[in-house]
Amino acid sequence: MLYHRTAKGKVGVMKSRILMQVVFATALLLGVSARAQAAEPMKVSASFSILGDMVKQVGGDRIEVFTFVGPNGDAHVYEPTPADAKELSESKILFINGLGLEGWMTRLEKSSGFKGTVVIASKGITPRKMVEDEKTITDPHAWQNLANGKIYVANIRDALIAADPDGKAAYEANAQTLLDGIAAMETKVKEAIAKLPPERRKIITTHDAFGYFGAAYGMEFIAPEGVSTESEASAKDVAKIITQIKKEKIPAVFLENVTDSRLLDQISKETAAKIGGTLFSDALSPPAGPAGTYLDMFRNNIETLSQALSS
Ligand SMILES: [Zn+2]
Repeated sequence: MLYHRTAKGKVGVMKSRILMQVVFATALLLGVSARAQAAEPMKVSASFSILGDMVKQVGGDRIEVFTFVGPNGDAHVYEPTPADAKELSESKILFINGLGLEGWMTRLEKSSGFKGTVVIASKGITPRKMVEDEKTITDPHAWQNLANGKIYVANIRDALIAADPDGKAAYEANAQTLLDGIAAMETKVKEAIAKLPPERRKIITTHDAFGYFGAAYGMEFIAPEGVSTESEASAKDVAKIITQIKKEKIPAVFLENVTDSRLLDQISKETAAKIGGTLFSDALSPPAGPAGTYLDMFRNNIETLSQALSS
């Protein structure tokens, strides 16, 4: 009886053992995949700090972003390190600005053996062309127009979804939050510039980084250096700008966080233009600084311009 009952019971026990094993295995799998997701976010790289911040905001905790050119760094000229090559080789996506900004990237890509996807964040914007030293060149600083920033965010979102479809809902929600922030900032920038006297909306910066900003919001930026910091301003260019400042009574020169201040110090001394403060052009500040994110960069720049030019 005992055996009989046991035998009958054994089937039950075996069935429930199998069931328990299935439950355990499932729990184990779920646990492992949950841990893997929490512990191993998708690795991606971004060429410079402004783009890195946008990618980080859209990717949230599903990704880990490595940025080559960090806070206050100059993205036009950069010497990649072996550590950069290693980070890139482990990345699934490489986000670049494009439009000729990162001339150093092709070599880094080749040396790293990168096998992932290259995403050009500026794809779909209308490039600003200009003539410099009798050559037509493309201005890479498209992020300085918030309307272009929206296109960057959409490109980043779509690339992250393509690489990690499970994160679609999260990427879409994060992107929407950033897009809403950009839309609100657009209103603020337009309001702030509308308050400036029209005759004071022409200013000097070191290099031509604010062409998109100027075209979008109705300001004129003049720079002794061109759209890249690679070539220094010639004495002739500097002399020309000094004459222009005097003739047109340009009120202020603005330093940039990525360029040397000596040139503008000199221009300010030789003219009546005052130094209006520091604008963030091609890089963010460190996280604790005044321009630690894409939106804070605009907030800071608009405050700096308003304070220096409103009276
Ligand atoms: Zn630049």
